[in-house]
Amino acid sequence: MQFLGKKLDGICGKRVLLDGELIPATIKISDGKITEIQRHVAGENAANMEGSIFNAGNHVVMPGIFDSHVHINEPGRTEWEGFFTATKAALAGGITTIIDMPLNSIPPTTTLDNLAIKLDSAKAKCHTDLGFWGGVVPGNIDSLKPLINKGVIGFKCFLICSGVDEFPHVNEDEVDQALNEIKGTNAVLAFHAETDCGTCANNNADPTQYSSFLASRPDEMELDAIKMVDRLCRKHKNVRCHIVHLSTAKALPILSKLKEDGFPITVETCPHYLTLNPQEISDRQTQYKCCPPIRDTENQNKLWNGLKTGVIDMIVSDHSPCTVDLKQPGKKDFMEAWGGISSVQFGLPIIWSQAESRGFDIPTLSRWMSEEPARLAGMSNVKGKLEINYNADIVIWNDEKTFEVTEDIVLHRNKITPYKGKTLKGKVLATILRGQLVYEDGNFSNINGRLLIN
Ligand SMILES: [Zn+2]
Repeated sequence: MQFLGKKLDGICGKRVLLDGELIPATIKISDGKITEIQRHVAGENAANMEGSIFNAGNHVVMPGIFDSHVHINEPGRTEWEGFFTATKAALAGGITTIIDMPLNSIPPTTTLDNLAIKLDSAKAKCHTDLGFWGGVVPGNIDSLKPLINKGVIGFKCFLICSGVDEFPHVNEDEVDQALNEIKGTNAVLAFHAETDCGTCANNNADPTQYSSFLASRPDEMELDAIKMVDRLCRKHKNVRCHIVHLSTAKALPILSKLKEDGFPITVETCPHYLTLNPQEISDRQTQYKCCPPIRDTENQNKLWNGLKTGVIDMIVSDHSPCTVDLKQPGKKDFMEAWGGISSVQFGLPIIWSQAESRGFDIPTLSRWMSEEPARLAGMSNVKGKLEINYNADIVIWNDEKTFEVTEDIVLHRNKITPYKGKTLKGKVLATILRGQLVYEDGNFSNINGRLLIN
């Protein structure tokens, strides 16, 4: 605990992630930036340096996790989550930057005035750096350019009911107009890709069973929406489009072809689609409910293959909590319960636990969880890698250590999570934000997160 709260002059270790490999090295830091990287010669422990040098030993030293999909819900639904609790949980999980989603806060981030309200309520509460998505809803086209100028990274839209009244979904015409409006700005349009299926819900199905919910949101709903994105992406050529939380592997061929044809499409998936299975979901276990839903094992294997082939670019949390009464495991049924999974604190170990056994290495994991999300957010020149002139945003973790997710270690405001009781591999030991050691072994220093806005 020698350095907690201190601005470090450097970090040394035997497994520092540089240029896609873990090697012995020392990273020198000044004014929050990486200023020098010294690769160790054989037998050397640390480069000859003065000052506060954190020795990571055999632990992994890699770029801080970048989570571009988090619902913080403040202001307006602060009882669901908040800037303080979400970013504190994130920091303990090795995350150094979060991008906040535009919806579930009231007001949603759909106008400049609404963004100002959000910024005001985020002030001095963030343990990590925090950027913002804007939202595209019917009628807010004139707000898009002002929001871009203020620094939102792009916009999220829904092609189906979002679950909250103040963030209505858009139709193909409205998406078309939005893409026209943001042309030439480098902002990205992110799609919740499901369309309505009037005939999918079966009113006679038992709502306490997961299978009833799963049957009400079939692959075809995602597939239909992604076909629409395919049309629009091809029409608008150079405008960046992004698929959030891909669940169905059936869409991978369409997305693969779009990429192959050179269109600027990116795709994310989430820890729950990659690691949880319908077979383990008992009746009334609504903590597993999310939209689109968690599908079967064969689908899951194909998603991992999508990551391997590069059709899926990144893994982000889609942390979307709510209060116990809305989520209510064991009481409410699947059709009524809030759809959203809480996991922002545990993304790294959840993914590592599976990725390692599937033969993926740590540099690949870092690309999925740091480099690619930073690129999506337009920050790939300062975040997501350990290189000279990049922010010294760093996570140090033990890739061998296992731990159980128990309620007392969960730092989210509401502690319901499907990962409770699970044993995960990979423990975050310390997190460094712009050169300052802000988290170490369960202890936090001062709040030092920045709002990433103009
Ligand atoms: Zn989401």
